[in-house]
Amino acid sequence: MHLRIFTPHPGILAFYDGRIPGYRFDPRDNWVDDGALSLGIASYALVHDDQAIVYDTGTTLAHGRAIRAHLETLGVRTFGVILSHWHRDHIAGTEAFADAHIIASTRTAAHLTANRADLESETRWPPIRPLILPTTTYDDRLTLTLGPTRIDLIHVNIHSDDATVLWLPGSRILLAGDTVEDTVTYVAEPDHLAAHLADLARLKALQPRHILPCHGDPDVIASGGYGPGLIDATIRYVTHLTSPSDTPLHDLIAADLAARNLTWFAPYEGIHRLNLARVRAHGH
Ligand SMILES: [Zn+2]
Repeated sequence: MHLRIFTPHPGILAFYDGRIPGYRFDPRDNWVDDGALSLGIASYALVHDDQAIVYDTGTTLAHGRAIRAHLETLGVRTFGVILSHWHRDHIAGTEAFADAHIIASTRTAAHLTANRADLESETRWPPIRPLILPTTTYDDRLTLTLGPTRIDLIHVNIHSDDATVLWLPGSRILLAGDTVEDTVTYVAEPDHLAAHLADLARLKALQPRHILPCHGDPDVIASGGYGPGLIDATIRYVTHLTSPSDTPLHDLIAADLAARNLTWFAPYEGIHRLNLARVRAHGH
Protein backbone atom coordinates (compact mmCIF):
# COMPACT_ATOMS: atom_id res chain seq x y z
CA MET A 1 0.00 0.00 0.00
CA HIS A 2 1.21 3.51 -0.86
CA LEU A 3 -1.58 5.37 0.88
CA ARG A 4 -1.21 9.14 0.89
CA ILE A 5 -3.44 11.22 3.14
CA PHE A 6 -4.30 14.76 2.07
CA THR A 7 -6.46 17.51 3.55
CA PRO A 8 -7.88 19.25 0.49
CA HIS A 9 -10.16 21.39 2.69
CA PRO A 10 -10.58 21.76 6.45
CA GLY A 11 -12.47 18.75 7.76
CA ILE A 12 -12.12 16.82 4.49
CA LEU A 13 -9.50 14.10 4.19
CA ALA A 14 -8.51 12.31 0.98
CA PHE A 15 -6.99 8.82 1.15
CA TYR A 16 -5.18 8.39 -2.15
CA ASP A 17 -3.38 5.35 -3.51
CA GLY A 18 -1.99 4.41 -6.89
CA ARG A 19 -0.07 5.99 -9.77
CA ILE A 20 3.13 4.49 -8.32
CA PRO A 21 5.48 3.68 -11.23
CA GLY A 22 6.54 0.03 -11.21
CA TYR A 23 4.32 -0.95 -8.27
CA ARG A 24 1.70 -3.66 -8.60
CA PHE A 25 -0.66 -4.93 -5.92
CA ASP A 26 -0.20 -8.40 -7.42
CA PRO A 27 1.62 -9.81 -10.47
CA ARG A 28 -1.55 -11.67 -11.57
CA ASP A 29 -4.28 -10.01 -13.62
CA ASN A 30 -6.48 -8.29 -11.08
CA TRP A 31 -9.00 -5.48 -10.85
CA VAL A 32 -7.18 -3.70 -8.01
CA ASP A 33 -4.28 -2.83 -10.31
CA ASP A 34 -6.10 -2.61 -13.60
CA GLY A 35 -9.20 -0.72 -12.53
CA ALA A 36 -7.93 1.38 -9.67
CA LEU A 37 -4.30 1.67 -8.61
CA SER A 38 -2.88 2.10 -12.12
CA LEU A 39 -5.08 5.20 -12.53
CA GLY A 40 -5.00 6.36 -8.89
CA ILE A 41 -7.99 6.37 -6.58
CA ALA A 42 -9.15 8.36 -3.57
CA SER A 43 -11.61 7.71 -0.78
CA TYR A 44 -12.70 10.64 1.35
CA ALA A 45 -13.74 11.32 4.91
CA LEU A 46 -15.64 14.27 6.34
CA VAL A 47 -14.58 14.72 9.94
CA HIS A 48 -16.10 16.70 12.81
CA ASP A 49 -14.92 16.14 16.39
CA ASP A 50 -15.33 12.43 17.10
CA GLN A 51 -17.53 11.75 14.07
CA ALA A 52 -16.60 10.89 10.49
CA ILE A 53 -18.52 10.14 7.34
CA VAL A 54 -16.44 7.99 5.02
CA TYR A 55 -17.21 8.34 1.30
CA ASP A 56 -16.08 5.05 -0.24
CA THR A 57 -14.28 2.48 1.83
CA GLY A 58 -11.14 1.78 -0.21
CA THR A 59 -9.83 -0.47 -2.93
CA THR A 60 -8.99 -3.38 -0.61
CA LEU A 61 -9.99 -4.34 2.92
CA ALA A 62 -6.50 -3.26 4.02
CA HIS A 63 -7.28 0.23 2.68
CA GLY A 64 -10.54 0.31 4.61
CA ARG A 65 -8.77 -0.72 7.80
CA ALA A 66 -6.03 1.88 7.25
CA ILE A 67 -8.61 4.62 6.69
CA ARG A 68 -10.43 3.67 9.87
CA ALA A 69 -7.20 3.40 11.89
CA HIS A 70 -6.08 6.85 10.77
CA LEU A 71 -9.42 8.41 11.65
CA GLU A 72 -9.30 6.72 15.06
CA THR A 73 -5.91 8.31 15.73
CA LEU A 74 -7.65 11.65 15.10
CA GLY A 75 -10.17 10.77 17.82
CA VAL A 76 -13.02 9.58 15.63
CA ARG A 77 -15.30 7.15 17.46
CA THR A 78 -18.49 7.23 15.39
CA PHE A 79 -18.38 6.25 11.73
CA GLY A 80 -20.89 6.58 8.97
CA VAL A 81 -20.29 5.34 5.44
CA ILE A 82 -21.68 6.55 2.12
CA LEU A 83 -21.00 4.51 -1.02
CA SER A 84 -20.53 6.51 -4.24
CA HIS A 85 -21.61 3.52 -6.37
CA TRP A 86 -21.35 -0.24 -6.44
CA HIS A 87 -18.06 -0.75 -8.37
CA ARG A 88 -15.48 -2.97 -6.68
CA ASP A 89 -12.75 -0.39 -6.17
CA HIS A 90 -15.09 1.81 -4.11
CA ILE A 91 -16.58 -0.79 -1.77
CA ALA A 92 -13.84 -3.34 -1.10
CA GLY A 93 -13.02 -1.90 2.34
CA THR A 94 -16.56 -1.80 3.69
CA GLU A 95 -15.98 -4.77 6.00
CA ALA A 96 -13.75 -2.46 8.09
CA PHE A 97 -16.91 -0.41 8.79
CA ALA A 98 -19.34 -3.30 9.20
CA ASP A 99 -20.53 -1.83 12.53
CA ALA A 100 -21.44 1.53 10.96
CA HIS A 101 -24.48 2.99 9.24
CA ILE A 102 -23.81 2.37 5.54
CA ILE A 103 -25.85 4.57 3.23
CA ALA A 104 -26.22 4.08 -0.50
CA SER A 105 -28.73 4.77 -3.22
CA THR A 106 -31.47 2.20 -3.65
CA ARG A 107 -29.89 1.36 -7.03
CA THR A 108 -26.48 0.75 -5.42
CA ALA A 109 -28.03 -1.64 -2.90
CA ALA A 110 -29.86 -3.42 -5.72
CA HIS A 111 -26.67 -3.80 -7.80
CA LEU A 112 -24.70 -5.10 -4.82
CA THR A 113 -27.40 -7.61 -3.97
CA ALA A 114 -27.81 -8.76 -7.58
CA ASN A 115 -24.05 -9.12 -8.05
CA ARG A 116 -23.27 -10.50 -4.63
CA ALA A 117 -22.26 -13.99 -5.79
CA ASP A 118 -19.98 -12.52 -8.46
CA LEU A 119 -18.39 -9.96 -6.14
CA GLU A 120 -17.70 -12.64 -3.52
CA SER A 121 -16.35 -15.15 -6.06
CA GLU A 122 -12.91 -15.63 -7.60
CA THR A 123 -14.20 -14.88 -11.12
CA ARG A 124 -12.64 -11.46 -10.93
CA TRP A 125 -9.81 -11.71 -8.44
CA PRO A 126 -9.57 -10.70 -5.62
CA PRO A 127 -13.02 -11.47 -4.20
CA ILE A 128 -14.80 -9.07 -1.84
CA ARG A 129 -15.90 -11.52 0.82
CA PRO A 130 -17.98 -11.11 2.82
CA LEU A 131 -19.74 -8.37 0.88
CA ILE A 132 -21.19 -5.87 3.34
CA LEU A 133 -24.49 -4.43 2.16
CA PRO A 134 -25.87 -0.93 2.86
CA THR A 135 -27.98 -0.57 5.98
CA THR A 136 -29.86 2.50 4.74
CA THR A 137 -30.95 3.47 1.23
CA TYR A 138 -32.49 6.56 -0.35
CA ASP A 139 -33.99 7.22 -3.78
CA ASP A 140 -33.32 10.72 -5.14
CA ARG A 141 -31.93 12.93 -2.44
CA LEU A 142 -31.07 12.75 1.25
CA THR A 143 -29.77 15.48 3.56
CA LEU A 144 -27.48 14.76 6.50
CA THR A 145 -25.64 17.01 8.89
CA LEU A 146 -22.20 16.55 10.38
CA GLY A 147 -21.65 19.17 13.10
CA PRO A 148 -22.41 22.47 11.34
CA THR A 149 -22.05 21.02 7.84
CA ARG A 150 -25.02 20.16 5.64
CA ILE A 151 -24.38 17.28 3.27
CA ASP A 152 -26.79 16.54 0.42
CA LEU A 153 -26.62 13.08 -1.12
CA ILE A 154 -27.82 13.33 -4.71
CA HIS A 155 -28.52 10.30 -6.87
CA VAL A 156 -27.37 10.75 -10.49
CA ASN A 157 -26.94 8.52 -13.52
CA ILE A 158 -23.41 9.30 -14.64
CA HIS A 159 -20.74 6.58 -15.15
CA SER A 160 -23.12 4.18 -13.40
CA ASP A 161 -26.87 4.49 -12.91
CA ASP A 162 -26.62 4.27 -9.12
CA ALA A 163 -24.18 7.11 -8.41
CA THR A 164 -24.33 9.18 -5.22
CA VAL A 165 -22.51 12.51 -5.15
CA LEU A 166 -22.07 14.56 -1.97
CA TRP A 167 -22.89 18.24 -2.24
CA LEU A 168 -21.81 20.58 0.52
CA PRO A 169 -23.84 23.73 -0.19
CA GLY A 170 -22.10 25.80 2.51
CA SER A 171 -18.66 25.49 0.94
CA ARG A 172 -19.88 24.63 -2.59
CA ILE A 173 -17.72 21.50 -2.56
CA LEU A 174 -18.80 18.49 -4.65
CA LEU A 175 -17.47 15.04 -3.81
CA ALA A 176 -18.14 13.50 -7.17
CA GLY A 177 -17.32 9.79 -6.93
CA ASP A 178 -16.74 8.52 -10.48
CA THR A 179 -19.19 10.95 -12.14
CA VAL A 180 -16.24 13.01 -13.32
CA GLU A 181 -12.70 11.78 -13.71
CA ASP A 182 -9.37 13.27 -14.76
CA THR A 183 -8.13 12.62 -17.47
CA VAL A 184 -11.42 11.31 -18.95
CA THR A 185 -14.51 9.55 -17.65
CA TYR A 186 -14.68 5.75 -17.79
CA VAL A 187 -17.70 4.64 -19.80
CA ALA A 188 -19.12 1.58 -18.08
CA GLU A 189 -22.68 2.01 -19.39
CA PRO A 190 -22.54 3.18 -23.04
CA ASP A 191 -26.32 2.90 -23.44
CA HIS A 192 -26.79 5.76 -20.93
CA LEU A 193 -24.76 8.57 -22.52
CA ALA A 194 -27.82 10.82 -22.92
CA ALA A 195 -28.69 10.36 -19.25
CA HIS A 196 -25.07 11.07 -18.34
CA LEU A 197 -25.20 14.39 -20.21
CA ALA A 198 -28.50 15.36 -18.58
CA ASP A 199 -27.18 14.66 -15.09
CA LEU A 200 -23.82 16.33 -15.77
CA ALA A 201 -25.90 19.44 -16.53
CA ARG A 202 -27.58 19.02 -13.11
CA LEU A 203 -24.16 18.90 -11.41
CA LYS A 204 -23.04 21.98 -13.34
CA ALA A 205 -26.20 23.81 -12.23
CA LEU A 206 -25.14 23.34 -8.60
CA GLN A 207 -22.27 25.73 -9.44
CA PRO A 208 -19.63 23.91 -7.42
CA ARG A 209 -16.49 25.81 -6.52
CA HIS A 210 -14.34 22.74 -5.80
CA ILE A 211 -14.75 19.23 -7.17
CA LEU A 212 -13.14 16.17 -5.59
CA PRO A 213 -13.33 13.11 -7.88
CA CYS A 214 -12.25 9.62 -6.86
CA HIS A 215 -9.92 9.19 -9.85
CA GLY A 216 -7.72 12.18 -10.58
CA ASP A 217 -4.34 13.81 -10.15
CA PRO A 218 -3.09 13.50 -6.55
CA ASP A 219 -1.50 16.96 -6.60
CA VAL A 220 -4.74 18.60 -7.75
CA ILE A 221 -6.77 16.69 -5.14
CA ALA A 222 -4.25 17.54 -2.39
CA SER A 223 -4.48 21.23 -3.24
CA GLY A 224 -8.26 21.46 -3.00
CA GLY A 225 -9.55 19.71 -6.11
CA TYR A 226 -10.77 20.72 -9.55
CA GLY A 227 -12.74 23.74 -10.64
CA PRO A 228 -16.13 23.58 -12.39
CA GLY A 229 -14.29 23.21 -15.70
CA LEU A 230 -13.93 19.49 -14.97
CA ILE A 231 -17.69 19.11 -15.49
CA ASP A 232 -17.57 21.15 -18.72
CA ALA A 233 -14.68 19.02 -19.99
CA THR A 234 -16.61 15.85 -19.16
CA ILE A 235 -19.70 17.14 -20.99
CA ARG A 236 -17.54 17.88 -24.07
CA TYR A 237 -15.93 14.43 -23.93
CA VAL A 238 -19.19 12.50 -23.49
CA THR A 239 -20.77 14.59 -26.25
CA HIS A 240 -17.89 13.58 -28.52
CA LEU A 241 -18.53 9.93 -27.71
CA THR A 242 -22.09 10.24 -29.02
CA SER A 243 -20.52 10.63 -32.52
CA PRO A 244 -16.91 9.60 -31.99
CA SER A 245 -13.95 10.19 -34.30
CA ASP A 246 -10.42 8.76 -34.40
CA THR A 247 -8.84 11.97 -33.14
CA PRO A 248 -6.07 11.03 -30.68
CA LEU A 249 -7.14 11.69 -27.08
CA HIS A 250 -4.47 14.32 -26.46
CA ASP A 251 -5.69 16.34 -29.46
CA LEU A 252 -9.33 15.80 -28.57
CA ILE A 253 -8.94 17.36 -25.12
CA ALA A 254 -6.13 19.82 -25.96
CA ALA A 255 -8.20 22.91 -25.10
CA ASP A 256 -9.22 21.49 -21.71
CA LEU A 257 -5.62 20.54 -20.96
CA ALA A 258 -4.49 24.07 -21.84
CA ALA A 259 -7.24 25.54 -19.64
CA ARG A 260 -6.20 23.17 -16.81
CA ASN A 261 -9.68 21.71 -16.64
CA LEU A 262 -7.88 18.39 -17.15
CA THR A 263 -4.36 17.09 -16.55
CA TRP A 264 -2.64 14.58 -18.83
CA PHE A 265 -2.08 11.07 -17.50
CA ALA A 266 -1.07 8.83 -20.38
CA PRO A 267 -2.73 5.59 -19.16
CA TYR A 268 -6.06 7.26 -19.96
CA GLU A 269 -5.29 6.66 -23.64
CA GLY A 270 -6.14 3.03 -22.86
CA ILE A 271 -9.38 4.08 -21.12
CA HIS A 272 -10.28 6.20 -24.16
CA ARG A 273 -9.71 3.20 -26.48
CA LEU A 274 -11.98 1.09 -24.26
CA ASN A 275 -14.60 3.85 -24.22
CA LEU A 276 -14.55 4.07 -28.03
CA ALA A 277 -14.88 0.30 -28.37
CA ARG A 278 -17.84 0.27 -25.98
CA VAL A 279 -19.76 3.15 -27.53
CA ARG A 280 -19.15 1.80 -31.08
CA ALA A 281 -20.30 -1.67 -30.04
CA HIS A 282 -23.43 0.05 -28.80
CA GLY A 283 -23.97 1.72 -32.20
CA HIS A 284 -22.66 5.27 -31.73
ZN1 LIG B 1 -16.75 3.24 -11.04
